[in-house]
Amino acid sequence: MKKPNVVVLGAGYGGLMTVTRLQKMVGVNEANIILVNKYDYHYESTWLHEAAAGTLHHDRVRYPIVDVIDRNKVQFIQDTVVKIVPQEKRVLLQDNGELTYDYLVVALGFESETFGIKGLKEYAFAIANVNAARQIREHIEYQFATYSTEEEKREERLTIVVGGAGFTGIEFLGELVDRVPELCREYDVDPDKVRIICVEAAPTVLPGFDPELVEYAVNVLEKKGVEFKVGTAIKECTPEGIIVAKDDQVEEIKAGTVVWAAGVRGNHVIDESGFEAMRGRVKVDPFLRAPGYDDVFIVGDCALIINEETNRPYPPTAQIAMQQGETCAKNLAVLIRGQGELQPFKPDIKGTVCSLGHDDAIGVVFGKKIWGTKASFMKKMIDNRALYLIGGPTLVAKKGKFNLL
Ligand code: FAD
Repeated sequence: MKKPNVVVLGAGYGGLMTVTRLQKMVGVNEANIILVNKYDYHYESTWLHEAAAGTLHHDRVRYPIVDVIDRNKVQFIQDTVVKIVPQEKRVLLQDNGELTYDYLVVALGFESETFGIKGLKEYAFAIANVNAARQIREHIEYQFATYSTEEEKREERLTIVVGGAGFTGIEFLGELVDRVPELCREYDVDPDKVRIICVEAAPTVLPGFDPELVEYAVNVLEKKGVEFKVGTAIKECTPEGIIVAKDDQVEEIKAGTVVWAAGVRGNHVIDESGFEAMRGRVKVDPFLRAPGYDDVFIVGDCALIINEETNRPYPPTAQIAMQQGETCAKNLAVLIRGQGELQPFKPDIKGTVCSLGHDDAIGVVFGKKIWGTKASFMKKMIDNRALYLIGGPTLVAKKGKFNLL
């Protein structure tokens, strides 16, 4: 009997979890498993804010994909997916022609969403992948270096604007307030000249999070110098900074660096391929399949699932992406063998922890509120757990965070 071709697109949390679980479930003769990813490494997206601020070296954030796949069972192709043609079971690649599949897993992850705000794409940075994070780190460092050497000082070089006080924005601010004092020392810059401004359109920081923990986070960050402008919308980003508006009051903030952290969407390949989607996210069936295509599974940030308790979509997270990868692998094994029943996906949300720099954080874990060093310890344990689930103890030993406090 012909071995089915299982093609997995994307080696982020969802894709790698699918592949590493599936390779344990099926034998060499049962399926051809092909994994396609743009880079030859996996990166921990949830650590990218650290690389962007410069508090963690970018090589700590990534590891080679071949380190965690079983090369007897999985063929890895480094390439960029251009389009999926689901009616013909084909995937078009940028450099290696095309692939055909019997079962497809789309795990192409997130992209920055600028909601059409003028100038953001051109002049703001987004914490989107390893190289984008490196660019932000280098850019901020360049601004400090230039300021310290230029004759006519332009203080706005030392203003960093973060657009969005959601999870990513707050975690990035937490790293920035750790990094900026180091940069000031390295480049002989007076810390009083540096401004870190966070602009959030919603009336509160971390909308939807526990108000007591939000207050804790705001106090911590304000004490370290962050200025919050809530209820304030970014109207435009220019080469000089941003234009914001609050209650009809328009203000220009001159800034050397603007980082947009207020929106993500699913990968544009989803739209290119004609799937019915909202901002690149496909509302999948209970088994994680795209509507109308029983052979196409979608996991991670490209999948949209509804929380029945709130009747709203679950936010896209690594936690859900990994759990979906696990269910997807089990369902693929059922289909490959033609035995058993497909499992519906049920998210098991264990909690959420938001870091506030190296040794502080806030979170709700198993329904309990935590903050301070305890929450920070928990955050690092969560980071290590993600490594463990994909690469076992060897990967934790290589890449884990052991400086726990
Ligand atoms: P990704 O992890 O984005 O992986 C997608 C993969 O596809 C990547 O390897 C990419 O290179 C590849 N790819 C993309 N396009 C192509 C293409 N065209 N061709 C080939 N390959 C391609 N979530 C949490 O649960 N907890 C947190 O604390 C948390 N913190 C975060 C902090 C930051 C700074 C950010 C940015 C995100 C955070 N998230 C967090 C969200 C989390 O990172 C995402 O939900 C998660 O990465 C989604 O996983 P994924 O597998 O769908 O995609």
